[in-house]
Amino acid sequence: MAGEAEPVAGDTLQPAPGRACGSCTMCCKVLEIADLSKAAGKWCVHVKPGRGCGVYDTRPGVCREFYCDWMVDARYGPEWKPDTAKFAISPLTQGTNLLIAVDPNFPNAWRKEPYHRQIREWVKACEAMGKFVLVRIGQRCIALLPDKDVELGAVGVNDDLFVSRDAGPSGYVYSVEVRRRPD
Ligand code: SF4
Ligand code: SF4
Repeated sequence: MAGEAEPVAGDTLQPAPGRACGSCTMCCKVLEIADLSKAAGKWCVHVKPGRGCGVYDTRPGVCREFYCDWMVDARYGPEWKPDTAKFAISPLTQGTNLLIAVDPNFPNAWRKEPYHRQIREWVKACEAMGKFVLVRIGQRCIALLPDKDVELGAVGVNDDLFVSRDAGPSGYVYSVEVRRRPD
């Protein structure tokens, strides 16, 4: 995996009608971008926060092709715009699961309403598809499983996450394992 902002191969995401980044530069902070040696949760050296990209005409392809879910899905209301919500939602690199990349200055933004209730609905929907939701706050990750949230500590984008479940007395009991890989 080259970084969380790597677009899915063959992906042709386009902004929804009327959607524009405007003053938002959240993805230039919250995502890891391997092509720029940029860690998750740190501003890109090229960003002008609140104004856009300082190297817009020559920005790397990964930046040209990336759109967060708010940009491509008109069902998200204005409260979900990343510079308002303080987090950006996108599919993980492989095109599966869901990544909620949170501004480390607002680490609990995703726990607030109206966000948290909807996020828990996505956790249930993801379970039905064999996927799960991952919250990333810089290097810190939290796996949102159907029966609980699991603090994973620091997780690199090269690390693998495996979610499993076992039958319990009152439903499935979920667990998640981090298999670390060298950078
Ligand atoms: S997080 Fe979304 S809206 Fe904000 S700059 Fe990135 S793509 Fe645009
Ligand atoms: S190069 Fe520009 S678009 Fe890409 S992360 Fe940096 S500031 Fe954002």
